[in-house]
Order: sequence, then C-alpha cells, then structure tokens
Amino acid sequence: MATAHEPVAAHHAANAEGISQRTRLYDGRKAAHRLHVLIVGCGMGGLAAAHCLGQAGHKVTLFESAAAIGEVGAGIQVTPNVSRLLRRWGVGDNLEAVAVRPEAIVLRRYETGERVAYTRWSDMEEQYGSPYYHIHRADLHKLLFDLAAPFMTLRLKSTVASVDPEAPSVTLASGEVVHGDLIVGADGVKSMIQRVVLGHTNPAEPTGDAVYRAIIPTEYLLKDPELKPFVDHPEMTGWMGPGRHIMAYNIRAKKEFNIVLAHPDDGSVESWTAEGSADKMRADFADFEPRIRKLLGFVKSTLKWRLMDRQPLKKWIHPSYKVILLGDACHPMLPYRAQGAAMAIEDAAVLGNLLSRLNHPSQLRALLQAYEDLRLPRTAETQRQSRLNQHIFHLPDGPEQEARDAQMRQAMEIELRMMREGVSPADSLEGSPNQWADRKKNEAQFAYDADAEAERWWREVGEKALGEAGEFEERVAAKL
Ligand SMILES: Cc1cc2nc3c(=O)[nH]c(=O)nc-3n(C[C@H](O)[C@H](O)[C@H](O)COP(=O)(O)OP(=O)(O)OC[C@H]3O[C@@H](n4cnc5c(N)ncnc54)[C@H](O)[C@@H]3O)c2cc1C
Repeated sequence: MATAHEPVAAHHAANAEGISQRTRLYDGRKAAHRLHVLIVGCGMGGLAAAHCLGQAGHKVTLFESAAAIGEVGAGIQVTPNVSRLLRRWGVGDNLEAVAVRPEAIVLRRYETGERVAYTRWSDMEEQYGSPYYHIHRADLHKLLFDLAAPFMTLRLKSTVASVDPEAPSVTLASGEVVHGDLIVGADGVKSMIQRVVLGHTNPAEPTGDAVYRAIIPTEYLLKDPELKPFVDHPEMTGWMGPGRHIMAYNIRAKKEFNIVLAHPDDGSVESWTAEGSADKMRADFADFEPRIRKLLGFVKSTLKWRLMDRQPLKKWIHPSYKVILLGDACHPMLPYRAQGAAMAIEDAAVLGNLLSRLNHPSQLRALLQAYEDLRLPRTAETQRQSRLNQHIFHLPDGPEQEARDAQMRQAMEIELRMMREGVSPADSLEGSPNQWADRKKNEAQFAYDADAEAERWWREVGEKALGEAGEFEERVAAKL
C-alpha cells in the first residue's frame, strides 16, 4: 500500500482534458497587449493562474521544482466561492462525479460525541449560488492541471534560484536565465519570491498546533453500524476538545473518508509530505469518544503538518510592477476555515479577468494595483477568521467552553426549527462561535464572485481611468 506522502493518482473522472479550449471566459475578451508571464509554482494557485492568464490571451511558462506533479493523500474542501469558478471554467460535471456534497456541518463534544452545533449545508447552492464540495486534493489538482495545460509551457525540475525584478527574469538552479514580462510568485508558504517583493521574509509564528491527516476507505465504516451513518449521511463532522479538534468528511463519491486532527505540536515540520506516527496519533486522541477510537484504528499512515501563523503582508507587488505574489506565497492561512486554496484560486480568477483588459503596456501598473487592492483585504479578513476558529475549537473544559456550547446549541435550535417549519430565520446569528451559522459571514465568504468583483472595479474605476488612457496612447502610437 502506498504511504500517504507519495503523490496519489487522480480519479479517472477528474479528467478535464480539452475542456478549457472549449470554454469562453471574459465574454471572449483577450488582451490586445500580450504578456509572457513566468509563474513560479505548480500548486493549485499557480495552475489556476496559468489557466486564467491563458484564457485572458497571455503566454505562460510555469516553473516547478518537483520532478513530477501531483498531490498528497488528503482531502480538501471546495467552498461555493470556488465551485462557482470551477463550474464557470467548465468542470462542474467532473466535480459532481468525484466530490461529495455534505448535508451539514455538525460539531460535537470530544468525549461523548454529543451534537452541540448543526448548520445545514445542503442548501448552499440555493443560498450562495453554488454547492459546497469535499474532494481529494489529487482530483482537484488534476482538474486545475487539465484546465491550465493547453495554455502553458510547464518546466518541471526547474527550481527558481533567484529573480531579477527589473529585467524581469528568473534564474534557475541550473544557471539558465529566462526572461519574461511579468513574474507571478505562486511558490507557496515558504515563498522565495516573497523575499524579492518585500525585501525580507514575513515572520512565521508557531501556533502551538500541528495536524495529522489520514484517509480511510469507507468500506470499513460501512461494515460497522455505529460508523455507517457517517457515510450514509455525509456531513462535515467536527469534534471539539481541549487543545485539540478533529474534522472528518467523505471524498471520492463517498469511497474514502478524510480525517484532519489538530493537536499540540510536539516538534513537527511545516511540510506537505512529512509522515506522522499513526500510533502516536491514536495515543493523542485516546480520550475522544469510542467512534473516534474505532476510526483511528483503521489508519495505516498519516501526514503531519506544523501549523504556523503569519500576519497579512503590506504589499504583494514589487516596486518595479514586474513581480507579484499569489496564493500561500502572500496569504498563507490556518486551515480552520478551509479557505487557503480557495483564496489562491480566487486570486487567479481576479488576476486573469483584470489582465484580459490589458490593451497597452501603460495599463499594467493600474491593473496590477487593482489586483492587490481587490484581493489583499479579503484574504487578510479570511486569515483572521481562520485564526479565530483555533481559539473557539480548542477551549479547555470550563465556563468559557460551556458558554460556547450554549451559544452553539442555541444557533442549532434556530436552524433545526427553521428546517422543520421551512422558513427563513429572522436571526442572522451574527457573531455565533459556530462561524458557519453566521449568515453575514457566509454571505461574505461564499457568495463572493471573483469575476464579478473584477468587472465591478472595471465599471466603477478602471474603464474611466484606463479605457481613455489606453485608447489615447494607442492613438499616439498609431500616428508614430
Ligand atoms: C492541513 C491543511 C488542510 C487544508 N485544507 C484546506 C481546505 O479544505 N480548503 C482550502 O481551500 N485550503 C485548504 N488548505 C490550504 C491549501 O492547501 C493551500 O492554501 C494551497 O495548497 C496553497 O496553494 P499554492 O498554490 O499557493 O501553494 P502550494 O500548493 O504550496 O504550491 C507551491 C508550489 O511551488 C513550488 N515551488 C516552491 N518554491 C519553488 C521554486 N523556488 N522554484 C520552483 N517551484 C517552487 C512547490 O514545489 C509547490 O509545488 C489546507 C492546508 C492544510 C495545511
């Protein structure tokens, strides 16, 4: 059996070859001024950017250190703000085939399994315009890869060793220098390009937490009457305990069950592929309810990731306006709100939409500034909300935890009454410790449409400032 850290093959239904060539984005608009964009990093952010910039008419070369592309054995949540984009990009049917739509989020007490919070998620599409999905990381990565492939030249085993931000150019570890017009640093949480943009590295604070991740075949759960309901009624189930919590959900059309277990860090590293000890994991969660102990008994191997926290950056653009950042390279966040990849994919959508308007070199600065202005505040707020969940989930047993649970139960009662009576509640549950019960937060996070934001900026600001400037400069250029 393959261990969890080896790249996992994608499901056959995650094949999206040829789809992006048949999909028309940005009303068919392509940039009249074509850039050669050098993207560093073949993660989900880099691939989404390659696709969107390619659709916008630009030439893309993507550099990746690894010798082969792929993803580790773990699940990922695709929230409506991202499924909206993936559907628009033409892979909605693939998502339906490989992912799972959870019915609800349920939060439980760690030692009894008592349900203290419930928020329906089956109505996500009705409420926020697109479904919530749970998917295998390898399948999402493959969908993005297939979308990007027709638009990019992929250079594997090509570590970018340095960047000249004025040229602009990248120098590979081999010594080769590649010139382009714009460099996009999508090189992840330990970004080298971030240092180029900021002149220093944004410091990382240990959160004191690490996470184990593991996948269990659901055939084991289906054989056990106590565990079978977790598959029959796919939910996002969380167990909250002192200093620890677990999140679990179905992926791959309910064939696999993904578990993420946050616990006090005991000396792990911030790495996608570091293995943890399954026995140590079982010991760390030995006081959780019996169903958890059964579930963890099925785990053969785990991944372990040290959770580091970083504050928002002040800027994402080098003063030359020839190097920018995207994804974890500029807004790494704790996974407690399941929004890291979501923010990277939204970045790519906004960037592609804006740069589809590039008709003259003089417009580039303003379009890149719009990218930062639209994206930085949203990702900073999402970083803040992710951090908040760490505190909420990990309260020690005592008065604060009891108050949290009482508030969560109250929100659950409102939700369940609403479901029984089929009415919309008057209460927006603003500030609920179950952040998914807070309808205002849901609206802001999940109803967000990255393309609509870029279009709005163009209507309200860009068209007046750039349309005229671009046309003027084009007219001057035509006369010369
Ligand atoms: C436990 C856990 C659970 C999570 N769950 C969710 C979730 O449910 N939903 C969600 O949206 N997000 C989730 N996230 C966050 C999400 O996984 C990340 O935000 C996302 O993968 C970041 O993508 P990226 O493309 O920015 O960076 P990465 O995926 O890190 O990609 C960076 C790439 O750049 C390459 N690279 C780096 N340096 C160089 C160089 N110098 N030259 C060439 N190549 C280079 C790397 O090899 C890598 O392939 C989770 C994160 C964790 C840790």
